[in-house]
Amino acid sequence: MSTFNIINEEKINKTLEEAKNLSKEEILNIIEKSKDCFGLEVDEAAALLQVEDDEILEKMFESAKYIKEKIYGNRIVMFAPLYTSNECTNNCLYCGFRVTNKELHRRTLCPSEVVEEAKAIEKQGHKRILLVCGEDPRVTNIDHIVGSVDAIYKNVDIRRINVNCAPLSVEDFKKLKNIGIGTYQIFQETYHRETYKKMHVSGAKSDYDYRLTAIERAFEAGIDDVGIGVLLGLYDYKFDVLSTLIHSDYLDKKYSVGPHTISIPRLRPAIGSALEEIPYPLSDKDLKKVVTVYRLAVPYTGIILSTRESAALRDELLELGVSQMSAGSKTNPGGYEEDDKSADQFVTSDERSLDEILKVVCKQGHLPSFCTACYRNNRTGEAFMELAKDAHIHEFCQPNAILTFKENLVNVASEETRKMGEEMLKVEIEKIDDEKIKEETIKRLKRIEKGEKDLYF
Ligand code: SAM
Ligand code: SF4
Repeated sequence: MSTFNIINEEKINKTLEEAKNLSKEEILNIIEKSKDCFGLEVDEAAALLQVEDDEILEKMFESAKYIKEKIYGNRIVMFAPLYTSNECTNNCLYCGFRVTNKELHRRTLCPSEVVEEAKAIEKQGHKRILLVCGEDPRVTNIDHIVGSVDAIYKNVDIRRINVNCAPLSVEDFKKLKNIGIGTYQIFQETYHRETYKKMHVSGAKSDYDYRLTAIERAFEAGIDDVGIGVLLGLYDYKFDVLSTLIHSDYLDKKYSVGPHTISIPRLRPAIGSALEEIPYPLSDKDLKKVVTVYRLAVPYTGIILSTRESAALRDELLELGVSQMSAGSKTNPGGYEEDDKSADQFVTSDERSLDEILKVVCKQGHLPSFCTACYRNNRTGEAFMELAKDAHIHEFCQPNAILTFKENLVNVASEETRKMGEEMLKVEIEKIDDEKIKEETIKRLKRIEKGEKDLYF
């Protein structure tokens, strides 16, 4: 099978339709099965997507919390997006950067400006950046992206740069690989062809198949760490979530490694958007269900949450299986230096600073992590999945979360966050099973107190 025909609309609709016929007992059995952490079949995920009953939903939420805790512990990896350009030749009706939005202040950062932005992000305490840009072959081409990544790595203590950009050729993906990116991320937006066509009226992005096959070209170029997702709200979320799972399963079977992450962006208002309303709005309850279904169906795939969601909902979604979240984000190029709202891609909802978010995350019992060790130790792709599936990844993640959070507490955090964080670290150290690693972690914490940085396993 090739990527071109993995999304069979008729079959997906049939699966979703049949999934409505399951008894309560059958659904409860699927939920019970999910706790083994081996994931779910597509038809089982479809059955869970059809659940509307609050009592059953509650059971799904409980299972998501259980799996999250078992695989990821209470850790949450933090990152911030860096927009290098809002120039774009596409016309995605929902996006503020679309070519026909004449109101938008267009700006492309040169490498030194990118470095200034990255420094502002690093000053907040971040170590991981998601680099984002519009698609304009004259401006945001591969040289712009590679130049930006290179400038940050050379000049700023940012230790992992993930990239969300337009689909590339194999040759250009190789350049991304060589510059040492973390994850290559691309959202199909919607897997529903007709809706895709309606939403992407002109420009290179109107080619559904070129976008769908991007991940395969990335793999061919040697990038084995990829992220996928849909823009929730463009089309029926049940269809799109199931399609995302089918895409993930296809990649897993063909390349022995599925996506490292799935993102859950929900459509936000954007200045200059051509959409008067959200075509298929989904409620907060629906979004909680989406996170839960992903957590149960692909337990080893990270789930990424952005500041598109409100503070209150973000706090709830953390409990259900989100493993990475952005904080203190700006969606305009240069936004960390000067926040020009008329250059935004969309309106963010959670405006809290990283420091404020760290406090809430700690208060909820989650351990913030700024860890970037895996890809620097070549624990990516298949190697990462093997470790994750054997649960060995815990041995590295827990001490690394502790060490990187400590670095933040010592160097950047406010007094209040520091107190709260130090209390938390005392508890978290005790959770390290291996006595030798525990001992070494305690030694390294002392070294960080004395000013050392970037210590990891
Ligand atoms: N231009 C590239 C592309 O479209 O793939 C990469 C960057 S684009 C800025 C990143 C993502 O932002 C898109 O894939 C889309 O899902 C999301 N996005 C665009 N408009 C949005 C909106 N109004 N609300 C929420 N997310 C949006
Ligand atoms: Fe351009 Fe991406 Fe926005 Fe589409 S979503 S208009 S491609 S920046």
